[in-house]
Formats: sequence, C-alpha cells, structure tokens
Amino acid sequence: MKKILFIGILISFLSVGFNNRLIAQAAESAEITGKLAQKFAEGITEADLKTRLYIIASDEFEGRNTGEPGQKLAAEYLKNFYSDKNIASPLGEGNYFQEIPTEYLKANLKPSENVVAFIKGSEKPNEIVVISAHYDHLGIDKDGEIYNGADDDGSGTVAVMAIAEAFQKAVEEGNGPKRSILFLHVTGEEKGLLGSKYYANFPIFPLENTVADLNIDMIGRTDEAHESNPNYIYLIGSDKLSTELHNLSEEMNDKFTKLNLDYKYNEESDPNRFYYRSDHYSFAKNNIPVIFYFNGTHENYHRTSDTPDKINYELLAKRAQLVFYTAWEIANRENRIAVDK
Ligand SMILES: [Zn+2]
Repeated sequence: MKKILFIGILISFLSVGFNNRLIAQAAESAEITGKLAQKFAEGITEADLKTRLYIIASDEFEGRNTGEPGQKLAAEYLKNFYSDKNIASPLGEGNYFQEIPTEYLKANLKPSENVVAFIKGSEKPNEIVVISAHYDHLGIDKDGEIYNGADDDGSGTVAVMAIAEAFQKAVEEGNGPKRSILFLHVTGEEKGLLGSKYYANFPIFPLENTVADLNIDMIGRTDEAHESNPNYIYLIGSDKLSTELHNLSEEMNDKFTKLNLDYKYNEESDPNRFYYRSDHYSFAKNNIPVIFYFNGTHENYHRTSDTPDKINYELLAKRAQLVFYTAWEIANRENRIAVDK
C-alpha cells in the first residue's frame, strides 16, 4: 500500500515535471514564432509602400477602371512584381491572371482579370488563407479628371504586395507558412464586387478548403472621428463566423501592433452595412470567416482628390503589419480556425 502510494507520488511528480517542460517548450516555440513573425513583419516598410502606391495611383494608370487600359497596366504591374519576387501563380507557369469573361461582368464592360499569386504551405498545402484587395477604381470622369484611388484601394493593393513579399522572405529563409496563402487582387469591385464574386463562383482552390479571407479596402487614411488619435483601424466581420478568428486577431494586435481596433461598423444595426459592401462578403456568404480592414470614409472618398500625397504611410505600414501577423498566425497555428457560428 505504502509502496504503491510512493510510486503514485513519484509518477505524478515526474508527470508534473514533464508537463511543465512541455509548457515551457510550447512557450519557447511561441516566443520564437513571435520573434520570427516580427522579423518578417518589419520588412513591410513605409518606403516600399509609398514607392509602389505612387505608381499604382499615378495618372498613367488612369484610375484603373475595370476592363480599361489603366486597369490592364495595373494588372501587368502586379504580375511583374510577383514574377520578379519569384512568387508563383496558382494557375501555373507565368499566368497570374484569372480572366473574367464578359458574360460575368456587367453590360458595357470589357473583359477583365483578377491577379493571383500563391505561396504553397509547407505542412498543410491544401488549406488556403486568402489575402485580398481590389485593384480597380473609378477611371476618368467626363471632364478628363482622373480618379487616382490612392486610398481606395491602392492602399490595400500595395499592402497585399508587401505582405506577400514578407511571406516570401520567410519561405526563402526556411520559415514559410504551414498553410498556403493566396494573394488575390480582385477587379470590378467598384462595379459591384464582380471580381470576388467571380472568384467565389470559380474558385482556384475549393472553398471548403479556404480557411479565411483577410480583405483590405482603404487603410491609408484617417476619418473625421479619429483625427486626434489616428492609431486605429475599423475591423468588420471578425466575430461573425469564428470566435477563434476574432480572438486571434485581438491577440496579434495586443502583442505586436497595438492599434485601437474599432468595431463600430461591425454592429449589425450600423446603417452603412459595410460587412456586405466589399469583397470579403463573397467569402463570408460561403461561410468562410473574414476580417475586413478599413479606415472609414473621408472627404476625398470616391473623388478625384484621393491622391497618394494624402496617405499616412507610417499608419499604412502598421495596419499592413497587423494583417500580416494575423495571416501568419492563421497559417501557422496547429489547427485550422474553427467556424462556430
Ligand atoms: Zn474600395
């Protein structure tokens, strides 16, 4: 009896020691993951974002109207970027365009294309995390004035590019994501979410294997409500399908970026209904958890005065880093995030 008790105590003593060691190892590995993520996030810089946004939102791109020459130039620019960075396309050798035939567009629109790039996961390549932003805008008005669309959505476009570049760095150093990541630059958003609807109808990867969509539409400015404290971002949709996604997003921000996460537009009662108004909704309506990153509207919204000189690049970099950290965690955590709503 005594001997058995002694062995029992010994076993429980040893197993407590073992558990503590496991906990310590897990904490250590989380710490390493944290430091790694931070190292690559720091590769998302104000300077790169600015250089590229001045190109995307330049007059040469003529407001990137769906199907028009300016949008085609932007598509070509994105393609060259990914190809130069050795980031592959999921469509195969050198083809970065998911073509959208005119029957899926609206009347009077010429054929257009989503631009896609892909990093294959090292452990769970069939599970896909999507990071999206629309690259089309409103074109030129009847007086020849150009809608440069620097914030809408040049800011999201260059953020997706920088996030892709950060993940590619990680791949090159042997620390690529466990799950795959699809970088999805959609067209036709301003005409009614046409590019993302097309993607959801003709997905490159099955929607049931699509873990989440992080969608960025306008993250380079501040709205009137935050003029005195611009260290914020509106998050929309994070808790609508997955409690885990919402918690993870909050954790990443607490740990790294420390922005004020404003959920005002996440309220179901909010009359703006932004949850239904950008490309993430094409995923959310298919039961895929989403987060929409948004700075709110401002006096230059959908005007020819939405130009790159008015962007807060420091803030744009920080917000892009938040998206990166969140994507990093979704792509690398042990289990696929759970849909529980
Ligand atoms: Zn937009």
